Amino acid sequence: MDHKTYQPAADALKDRIILITGAGDGIGKTVALGCARYGATVVLLGRQQKKLEAVYDEIVAAGGAQPAIVPMNLLTITPDDTVGLANTLLSEFGRLDGLLHNAAVLGERAPIEHYSPNVWLEVMQINVNAAFLLTQSLMPLLKAAYDPSVVFTTSGVGRKGKAFWGAYAVSKFATEGMMQVLADELDESSRIRVNCINPGGTRTKMRAAAFPAEDTTKLKTPQDILPTYLWLLGPDSHAIHGQSVDAQ
Ligand code: NAP
Repeated sequence: MDHKTYQPAADALKDRIILITGAGDGIGKTVALGCARYGATVVLLGRQQKKLEAVYDEIVAAGGAQPAIVPMNLLTITPDDTVGLANTLLSEFGRLDGLLHNAAVLGERAPIEHYSPNVWLEVMQINVNAAFLLTQSLMPLLKAAYDPSVVFTTSGVGRKGKAFWGAYAVSKFATEGMMQVLADELDESSRIRVNCINPGGTRTKMRAAAFPAEDTTKLKTPQDILPTYLWLLGPDSHAIHGQSVDAQ
């Protein structure tokens, strides 16, 4: 089966609780809507409540399970915040079946010699440190699930460094590293599966910021790459662990 053309059964994600970061826009929004369409209860985490509410409304209008909204700025979150979130989700749901680390920022396109130190620290905080804090705090909830899947979001520049991609590229190398370390730690000792997904060039505001002159009509849309996300977050990727998967 090619996961790029994966077609889930109508109830593939039924009764799964799936948390998605950056769920208010871009790929995260499309994955949230897609997960809900296949039966999941989604926990929508993002920094703009209005955007999350719009996704919430769309899910409910389409007949999906009532989502949860978590307004949280990953730039400023603390360990207390993520532990608090875990406690709330524990009392609300008792477990977590899927965790998609999708939120990220691009930062600057500049040579390291001239890269803004403040922007560097912000990119690493949002793209790497926040994913660590959330993963660590949510681990007990993931352990309580039957088939838990953690998915980190990588990028081509997280596998091969390229000039002027600065903190973004380094953050994605760190993301691949975090996935590998965690996957090795959990290998055989836990049911939790951990993988990376590389969306590839996709028509979103981040891509437009990185390539302003590009003809966007030639790009895949978030909807086009949705099958690989649904596959990795659902039961049909059961044996997949410790891998970095391309969505296109
Ligand atoms: P996007 O359209 O910019 O969406 C990113 C999402 O992350 C937005 O919902 C954004 O919220 C959220 N976010 C950013 N900073 C945040 C913060 N401090 N706290 C909470 N949420 C925050 O980008 P995208 O293209 O969908 O990217 C999704 C993922 O795919 C990222 O990890 C990106 O690195 C990766 N990726 C994308 C491409 C591509 O071509 N698009 C290629 C390779 C990898 P706001 O709506 O409030 O800004």
